[in-house]
Amino acid sequence: MSAPSSPGEATGPVLSVRDLVVHFAGRRKTTVRAVDGVSFDIAPAEILALVGESGCGKSTIALSVMRLVEPTSGTILSGGEDLARLKGQRLRRARRRIQMIFQDPFGSLNARRSVYDTVVEPLLIHGIAPTKEERRERVNEALALAHLTPPERLAASYPHELSGGQRQRVAIASAMVLRPPLVVADEPVSMLDVSARAGILRLMMDLRDRLGTSYLFITHDLATAWVVADRIAVLYLGRVVEIGRSTDVVAAPAHPYTRALLEVSADDERLSDRRVAVLPGEAPSASKVPPGCRFHPRCPRYAALGEPEACRVSDPTLSPSPTAGEGHAVACHFPLGENP
Ligand code: SF4
Repeated sequence: MSAPSSPGEATGPVLSVRDLVVHFAGRRKTTVRAVDGVSFDIAPAEILALVGESGCGKSTIALSVMRLVEPTSGTILSGGEDLARLKGQRLRRARRRIQMIFQDPFGSLNARRSVYDTVVEPLLIHGIAPTKEERRERVNEALALAHLTPPERLAASYPHELSGGQRQRVAIASAMVLRPPLVVADEPVSMLDVSARAGILRLMMDLRDRLGTSYLFITHDLATAWVVADRIAVLYLGRVVEIGRSTDVVAAPAHPYTRALLEVSADDERLSDRRVAVLPGEAPSASKVPPGCRFHPRCPRYAALGEPEACRVSDPTLSPSPTAGEGHAVACHFPLGENP
């Protein structure tokens, strides 16, 4: 079976998100600005990580791409179609091209269904592989791809017989059985122990290399993003505040928020509630987005620079970073690496 795309084969992006906005009605007539104008592309065989604290909008972006939440405005282009506007049969067909892996490998698998029943389901839903033999072959291939071997034995097992890492491999096999060009992975390793985490990240990168699969990889942890992703987009209160090659963003962060994220490690207890507790000020709320730069109430640089007016009144847009890394952009009036 051939891959849907291989590195260098396709030229355009696999996914192109433009000016995505997702607003919800909040309590007391407030508007929750969960996603507030986000744009990014994902190239074939590229892993783009969306990184940020709980409530920054990263999971809402993932669910919008899957059309599991309705975008308020903006476009989500994939395969020449705007997913934000598709309905019915065309949306169902488009969904074949994008599969999702969820955070919880315990909750995402049905305890009463065998591994075979779970992995074969997408084939049945989309009417692919009409004969039982073909389906059995596709399921075994997908299990082998996810390093669940021997596939025949694993296919007959049930979730309670598997470790957390094996369950997540079943979820990956279930996503890969359709050979989608793009996989959306929402915190896929955050509930796994450290050794299982490394194995799942290696598997995802291996599938990218072998099949040309692209990923939209959602994580709260910049260190995990650095390990797995080609590029990183850092989100704060529904906006991308920094984007660039992973090495550039991690080695030379240009946004004060990115630097704060780097100062806490993945295993730091302070991250247990998924907030960057090293920052001053209240936890951010998408129903109370501050004016000007939305990060200014918590920004160490704003304080260090004597609270410049520009930060309070003017909303910074993404511009090339002073570090001049390729495609490295930052939304800050006084980015790091630039005087003063
Ligand atoms: Fe901080 Fe000002 Fe930059 Fe916002 S614009 S991140 S408040 S320095």
